[in-house]
Amino acid sequence: MQILLVEDDHSLAQGISHALKLEGFSVNHLDRGEPAVMTIKSNQPDIVILDLGLPDIDGLVVLKRIRNYSKQIPVLILTARTTLDDKIAGLDNGADDYLDKPFEMLELLARLRVLERRLSTSYSNQITIGTVRIDIKAHTVSVDDITTDLSRKEYMVLKSLMENAGNIQTRASLEAKLYSWGDEVSSNALEVHIHHLRKQMPTGFITTVRGVGYRVNR
Ligand code: CA
Repeated sequence: MQILLVEDDHSLAQGISHALKLEGFSVNHLDRGEPAVMTIKSNQPDIVILDLGLPDIDGLVVLKRIRNYSKQIPVLILTARTTLDDKIAGLDNGADDYLDKPFEMLELLARLRVLERRLSTSYSNQITIGTVRIDIKAHTVSVDDITTDLSRKEYMVLKSLMENAGNIQTRASLEAKLYSWGDEVSSNALEVHIHHLRKQMPTGFITTVRGVGYRVNR
């Protein structure tokens, strides 16, 4: 689950990023609206956490531009503006949720879990390809009806491949799902996850597309 955090208060952003990473989310942080809109179009996150008071363009404008591009990406607004009019403006512009500053980190995590659940129910909950079944709601994987024990990152790779079965998942797009910007990632980290994953999958289930990425066939 990849989160884009758009927040110009750096100490708050650091605190949020830290808490989210502990929960296993990958978090990328930007402190301005314009680059956030560009990033969302080039490298779509699963959830956006958006501050309204940004130094370049207002968060509501960012939200409108996100909605012009995609109606689906969940956007959770963080703001110190707490009047009812502000909230209505945010929700009218397509925000999925609203959290007033200051807030408790536990509450932010709880709201994100709600968005995450809503996100996974918008897909079908189970994908079965051959003898491999992934249950996105339960976060389980079975092969021949026997549950396999995958690490979180192995699970994320498999989920991405199975949701996009038939299409190549590039190395860059898989790495973006697994790591935050600035994470120290060794150049073969993805290969290592794929290697472990393959040991638990039927032979030939994950195809290497040389120099590009990986694919699971339907
Ligand atoms: Ca701000």
